[in-house]
Amino acid sequence: MNIILLGAPGAGKGTQATKISDQYGLPHISTGDIFRENIKNQTEIGLLAKSYIDKGQLVSDEVTCKIVENRIARSDCEKGYMLDGFPRTIVQAEALDKITSIDLVINIDVDFSLVMDRICGRRVCKDCGESYHVSTLNGVATCSRCGGELTQRKDDNPETVQSRLDVYAKQTAPLIDYYTKKGLLFNVKSDENSTPDSTFAKVSAKLDSLLK
Ligand code: AMP
Repeated sequence: MNIILLGAPGAGKGTQATKISDQYGLPHISTGDIFRENIKNQTEIGLLAKSYIDKGQLVSDEVTCKIVENRIARSDCEKGYMLDGFPRTIVQAEALDKITSIDLVINIDVDFSLVMDRICGRRVCKDCGESYHVSTLNGVATCSRCGGELTQRKDDNPETVQSRLDVYAKQTAPLIDYYTKKGLLFNVKSDENSTPDSTFAKVSAKLDSLLK
């Protein structure tokens, strides 16, 4: 099964992706993680992507689509995969349609008012990418999953987050309509009472019904 996770920055895509990957064994492909890995290793792609990411803007469709095309051609994606953070524009969605078929698009529908605090308080494990929020860490600086060091992403600051939200509203939100028209969209509302587990219960119920 080929899945897309859609949602504004801070909606909880990464957290759901980890849970889906653990339960259903699908490779988790995050274009943001791929770019960050390239920045860390100072590759050509990393050098090119860094200035866009630091400003909260999108890396070019051409570069991003090529990365995804190469990644889903790898053998671990033969039985399915999960895309997190891709596509983010209509151009990317149309390019994806040309190279693969998508079975389900999970849209995590979160109110913008909730995401600023979520993102600015986010801490991420350097090694496995697991996300936490400072309010629940009680000063702990290591990952409870793998023991890795927790850090704050450079683009998780108020100004860059605002720009990422603006980019999302203008360029990514139209994908909700795009996939609704194709009959692929599954909308999951996430509000102030939602937890990662309550959201995952809805997601896994949908996935189980499709896998029956
Ligand atoms: P994320 O980890 O998904 O929040 O992505 C971090 C940053 O990487 C974004 O703000 C963009 O600058 C860049 N990025 C990730 N995915 C894409 C994409 N599909 N298209 C263009 N830029 C992307």
